[in-house]
Amino acid sequence: MPEPINEEGPGDPGQIMMRISDEQWRAIIHNDPAYDHKFFYAVKSTGIFCRPSCKSRPPRKENVRIYGNAKEALEARFRPCKRCKPTGERLPDHEWAVQITRCIEMNYMEPLTLNILADMCHGSPYHLQRTFKRVMGITPTEYIQRQRTARAIEYLIHTEKAIHEIAVNVGIANTPYFITLFKKSTGHTPAEYRHKHRIKQNGG
Ligand SMILES: [Zn+2]
Repeated sequence: MPEPINEEGPGDPGQIMMRISDEQWRAIIHNDPAYDHKFFYAVKSTGIFCRPSCKSRPPRKENVRIYGNAKEALEARFRPCKRCKPTGERLPDHEWAVQITRCIEMNYMEPLTLNILADMCHGSPYHLQRTFKRVMGITPTEYIQRQRTARAIEYLIHTEKAIHEIAVNVGIANTPYFITLFKKSTGHTPAEYRHKHRIKQNGG
């Protein structure tokens, strides 16, 4: 697991939430509508909350937080799912785009394809791509790349990690590919970037 640069996220300790019971967990993985008015569940790794019946990919159990009502989940800084609309309101495209950017920021260190992202953000890949591009002006893939480059720069400047470690830490297991992408974004290889920064810092 990569070291988190910024641990802050929704649903942190100290906020109102309930422990997940086996019964609730079963309701979530079976998308059971009988539980829809009994609780809501939020997923810490995506920042999104749903009704139990939501037909989404089953989350990792340790990332699930349970709330008695939508207001509590909102207060814990989770955002309503586009698909199951747990607040009963349609999610505006702008808010969905914000939700997608948050999801990318929390998961850039994982393998993140358009399909995986669409799954996490509860929409079709086509719809996600179109909506994101229209609102943000860039594609989700470009946004992921920017995020990874920005994080890689932080690692290059603030740590002594090797280039291949940094590549893994920003979600790209293939080091040559990481170097190619980094150079495309910044005009320098990661090693050059680090070297140039160090020279500048030492007043040279
Ligand atoms: Zn949902």
